[in-house]
Amino acid sequence: MTDRFAAPRPVPKPGILDIAPYKPGKAAAEGVASPIKLSANENILGCSDEARAAYAEAAGKLNLYPAGRADILRAAVAEKYNLEPERLLFGCGSDEIFQLLNQTFLEPGDNMIQGAHGFAAYAIGTHACGGVVKYVPEKNFTIDVDAMLEAVDERTRLIFLANPANPTGTWIDADEVRRLHEGLPPSVVLVLDGAYAEFNTDPRFEDGLGLARNAHNIVVTRTFSKIHGLAALRVGWGYMPAEMADAVDRIRLPFNVNIPAQLAAVAALKDEAFAARSVALVEQWRPWLTQQINGLGLDVVPSAANFVLVGFPEVSGKTAVEAEGFLATKGLLTRGVGNYGLVNHLRITIGLEEHNRAVVEGLAEFMGK
Ligand SMILES: *Cc1c(COP(=O)(O)O)cnc(C)c1O
Repeated sequence: MTDRFAAPRPVPKPGILDIAPYKPGKAAAEGVASPIKLSANENILGCSDEARAAYAEAAGKLNLYPAGRADILRAAVAEKYNLEPERLLFGCGSDEIFQLLNQTFLEPGDNMIQGAHGFAAYAIGTHACGGVVKYVPEKNFTIDVDAMLEAVDERTRLIFLANPANPTGTWIDADEVRRLHEGLPPSVVLVLDGAYAEFNTDPRFEDGLGLARNAHNIVVTRTFSKIHGLAALRVGWGYMPAEMADAVDRIRLPFNVNIPAQLAAVAALKDEAFAARSVALVEQWRPWLTQQINGLGLDVVPSAANFVLVGFPEVSGKTAVEAEGFLATKGLLTRGVGNYGLVNHLRITIGLEEHNRAVVEGLAEFMGK
């Protein structure tokens, strides 16, 4: 151990400098004036007009602190999803909820479990707490419940499971989630991240809120960033047991969700037509993109989210990195996912018809088809 007090300048605590900073999707391409951003799974339809109006109205309240417990938004979410208000926690994006859960449950040396290709934000918070991340192998890019259960040991405090997952877009059905929960020690927190839940319309899928209602160790998180198109405003929520919400709330920053975010989120919840349009667009183009891209000799991981994960088979002689660069020259920004252990894959957000057609044309040209 180095003596940090004797160091010639302040030294971050052990582990901090081992953390790889979160890498956002690219927002610009060299030489392209207004590229199409398909790199961050944002809502291609924008957001609800009512949400935008609520945001604009909030401009008259910039001198005020927000409601610390987001009362109006809390009541709106509780009503919409039929949840107990005291069991909700609001965050600066669901990212903040993940961070707070890590901080609440992890001591140095404790561990968190996630899938081999699990979302990067979870692990950053774990490492910041001196925790260990156990990555569990996936089968066909899908969470393997048995492998997850096997990985649990007496230092396990948290399991993070995005369902559907990012960057793979895969999911596990309600029976599998239940089996995972039943196999866990009651002391282990199971976090079901539903960032893309609305886009999974398969009847075997459940968002976990029903399961969480009667459990002492399940947290379900949701976000306004994807289906509601409010990523810029940073607002998400978690549903958890009341005593857990009470604990986590103690370390939350006092005014973590700002006024424009709270007001726009309330308006967005009411605009069911906008959410329905967002789902319908994805449902229309997801199978088309999958089929077209398959037709180019590329692999498409079956997706239940608003993006597709495209694999470049080794025999094709083409790489995901080259494809990302090639598409960028056409003004199509996609997301390389090498940092998720998927060096041969590219994640592409489902866009409007013209974007999707441009993606397929671009990939066809890249593949020489
Ligand atoms: C986009 C995304 C989120 C949402 O994060 P916010 O902080 O709410 O914007 C959460 N989980 C996953 C897996 C995501 O891809």
